[in-house]
Amino acid sequence: MSHSEHWRFTQIFTLQSKAMKLSEVTLEHHYADMGEAFGTPIAPTPFRHPKVIDTNPSVLQLLGIDPNEKSDPAWAELGCGARLFKGSRPFAMKYTGHQFGVYNPDLGDGRALLLGEIESEGRRWELHLKGAGKTPYSRFGDGRAVLRSTIREYLASEALYGLGIPSTRALCIVGSDEPVTREKIETGAMLIRVAESHVRFGHFEYLFYTKQLEALQELIGVICRRFIPGTEGMAVGEQAEALLRFTTRRSAELVAAWQSVGFAHGVLNTDNMSIIGDTFDYGPYAFLDDYDPTFICNHSDHTGRYAFEQQPGVVLWNLNALAHALSAFVGVDALRECLEQFQPVVSEAYAQRMRAKLGLEKEEDGDQALCSELLKLLQHGQADYSLFFRALAHYRGERPASALHELLKPTHHSALDQWLEHYDRRLTRETNNSRERNLAMLSVNPKYILRNYLAQKVIEAAEDGDYHPLRTLRQLLQSPFAEHPEREVWASAPPESGKRIPLSCSS
Ligand code: AMP
Ligand code: MG
Repeated sequence: MSHSEHWRFTQIFTLQSKAMKLSEVTLEHHYADMGEAFGTPIAPTPFRHPKVIDTNPSVLQLLGIDPNEKSDPAWAELGCGARLFKGSRPFAMKYTGHQFGVYNPDLGDGRALLLGEIESEGRRWELHLKGAGKTPYSRFGDGRAVLRSTIREYLASEALYGLGIPSTRALCIVGSDEPVTREKIETGAMLIRVAESHVRFGHFEYLFYTKQLEALQELIGVICRRFIPGTEGMAVGEQAEALLRFTTRRSAELVAAWQSVGFAHGVLNTDNMSIIGDTFDYGPYAFLDDYDPTFICNHSDHTGRYAFEQQPGVVLWNLNALAHALSAFVGVDALRECLEQFQPVVSEAYAQRMRAKLGLEKEEDGDQALCSELLKLLQHGQADYSLFFRALAHYRGERPASALHELLKPTHHSALDQWLEHYDRRLTRETNNSRERNLAMLSVNPKYILRNYLAQKVIEAAEDGDYHPLRTLRQLLQSPFAEHPEREVWASAPPESGKRIPLSCSS
């Protein structure tokens, strides 16, 4: 065996031998140990007849657990709180937040519990069981989640991850025969959400508005220590400023990424905003089918506060709410300065992503105009956003550009041809050849998108006891840029009836 072969063998061997068995998993509980200012210890209310719907091998791997452990029957009990992981100390986190612009002091983990944390390869992952029963923060809620909403969260987490966009992840779904009343009677399910932190903007707002400044200082210190190098030993004011700078940058990059893939979150309240910039709390989200910047996915969002094109502005609004909570320790001018980086970071990150989608390696002044011309054309020509960019990744200057024409209303074909002439001229100033460009574009323009009609199809199958479509879609979304020729049907545009499926907040 050569030296390099030996090294590789040792690496593989080490990786394999390090993967834990499920029975070896032991949780830590740093967050629960922070004490009563931060929440309440409480046991989950398990299901009587739990059944595993799916376990996600990709997240097992992330946690350092052997992916083969996905089939262990223990998941049914672990995934519904009937059995706890070793060391687990279930804890309902307290937070508040601004919902649709109005402060609500009564929020918190009303149906989810932090189970504890797993350390893997130098990162610490929190496990959060959603749908686990009532807590002191349930208000009038039943503490449950339904199968439909857990599947939507599960798929969306993996879709965003597959697209390379920061998101919480989903480890498993466990279903039950327990009836749960929403618009109709559904069945209860639980999901284990995984993230490096479940701290939301609303955690800071709670401690600020209840004047628990020592606890607020502690939380700022904890997040700085874990996520912002160089803040150790700083005074609290400096730490709070560093935190706002960090979260502003992460949130700006996140929303730029959403805009570039056509993801509408749907409920961007401050309690649904992650302090580390993960996509967080999946409710009535949607990926755009036809490109429509005014799209509102949540049918109870009557004013369009959270419409697709409003997202950058609303994220900045939320950052202002966070800044207000940090004003206990930082002056207004310094807070304002931190927030001022938001717009430039969004613009730069969005421009970079859109240039990549268009296959432009070089940066030119006219690129932004080229891109916005195209978006206008897609909007008025009622083109499917993702299908268009995927087709553009196969474009080689052919005339007529039939594959692209097919995606727009005929009334817009000549406008598209004009745009393609500009695009062709722009491409002549690139150095890569068309094959290289096509390959690069295929790696950023996904073939498989979590469309609402697909989610609906998978949910209906699962409600009838068939979980195969769910597993197939989960796998496709985890590698959405690959061709998967045998799965072509999952890449289709929605039928007319599958566009604009109304989505409610009920979950
Ligand atoms: P969400 O709409 O999931 O972001 O939740 C908003 C607030 O309502 C949070 O404080 C949740 O804990 C709480 N909540 C949502 N659904 C339920 C439920 N079924 N039972 C108890 N609390 C809930
Ligand atoms: Mg929420």
